[in-house]
Amino acid sequence: MSTFQFDICELPAAVETLRLELRRFFSTELAALTPLERAATWDGFDRDFSQKMAEQGWIGMTWPKRYGGHERSALERYVVLEEALVAGAPVSAHWIADRQSGPLLLRFGSEAQRELALPGIAKGELVFCIGMSEPDSGSDLASLRSPAKRSANGWILNGTKVWTTNAHKADYMIGLFRTGSNDDNRRGGLSQFMIDMKTSGITVNPIVDLVGRKHFNEVVFNDVELSNDCLIGSEGEGWDQVTAELAYERSGPERYLSSIHTLLALIDCLKEDPRERAAVIIGELMANMMTLRTMSLSLAAMLDAGENPALEAAVVKDLGTGFEQSLPDIAQLLIELEPDPGGATDIQQVQAFLIQAAPSFSLRGGTREILRGIIARGLGLR
Ligand SMILES: Cc1cc2nc3c(=O)[nH]c(=O)nc-3n(C[C@H](O)[C@H](O)[C@H](O)COP(=O)(O)OP(=O)(O)OC[C@H]3O[C@@H](n4cnc5c(N)ncnc54)[C@H](O)[C@@H]3O)c2cc1C
Repeated sequence: MSTFQFDICELPAAVETLRLELRRFFSTELAALTPLERAATWDGFDRDFSQKMAEQGWIGMTWPKRYGGHERSALERYVVLEEALVAGAPVSAHWIADRQSGPLLLRFGSEAQRELALPGIAKGELVFCIGMSEPDSGSDLASLRSPAKRSANGWILNGTKVWTTNAHKADYMIGLFRTGSNDDNRRGGLSQFMIDMKTSGITVNPIVDLVGRKHFNEVVFNDVELSNDCLIGSEGEGWDQVTAELAYERSGPERYLSSIHTLLALIDCLKEDPRERAAVIIGELMANMMTLRTMSLSLAAMLDAGENPALEAAVVKDLGTGFEQSLPDIAQLLIELEPDPGGATDIQQVQAFLIQAAPSFSLRGGTREILRGIIARGLGLR
């Protein structure tokens, strides 16, 4: 039977200087944000702000300098992410590209694709979206049907993607399409493309979420023509590429810090008169959070070493999203308050947003049930 590998990784003392720089920057740049805007953290979209972060060298931090990167360590990048989330920085314009699309292109993309995309991402100028899910294929991603067929000049794409975060604002999509049969080797019949969202034949239709926001979309492809150089890596390599990406998507601090603003507002609310029961519960929450952080940091070090900790990433995401989902309910139990986006206190505003947003935390990036299946398989239990 396999076991989990979570080696303890200490942050080097040198990163604390970076942490101070980040705190100074965020406290100046984000002074005007409302509690509600801070609570949205990595859902908040602001291209200008992303460009300011890029000017500090905080996007594409670990990438080679020749692609606009800064050749810093994954642990330094980790500190940037956690400080941004705790500050409530609106980082969504670069989040997906910095976390996933850039590393994917570095590993599997052609030299031309890297040169086209990476310097622009590192400057905070290019926004990417991920086109995996389809109306009938979410958890069972390998069943997806949207076809990419070879043409005289390249490829023709059809079909529909769904839940595509930021598709309405993105410059490019990394899209997973069916280039081979769906019968015998359905995973081997998938390929990824780097798609310019301005290409003719692409229609983006907004989907409104429970909170009333329009951040994800349906994306319809109608005879979209792509040249050969849009294929990422080789034909049929899409499944391997997607699974390599998932450890990046599932292991970061955004998987346990999405409700951090509830916890901060709760502590702020109770600090004048901390009842014993509340103090015990907050102590437990802090202990859980620090354990999750230790596990997540361990994965950052493994990814930095070129390993693919897919099993451990599924554990971090499952435990982390369970933690961040529980915080708004715990806050409701500890203090009497009416969640209200226009309420007088920070916690009323934050709760109004997070109570409605929290159910999605265990869906985005792979559902709880699917993660537990991966964990069981990884441990040899099924
Ligand atoms: C906020 C948000 C942002 C998203 N952004 C993107 C994006 O940018 N790009 C993208 O491609 N996708 C995105 N998604 C889609 C997300 O990846 C899917 O919602 C997710 O993978 C689940 O797929 P589904 O919605 O089709 O649900 P389904 O797969 O239909 O699942 C429905 C329910 O059945 C359960 N279930 C399914 N199969 C099994 C099984 N074998 N065993 C046990 N239970 C099972 C699931 O756990 C779930 O609870 C986003 C989703 C959200 C909520």
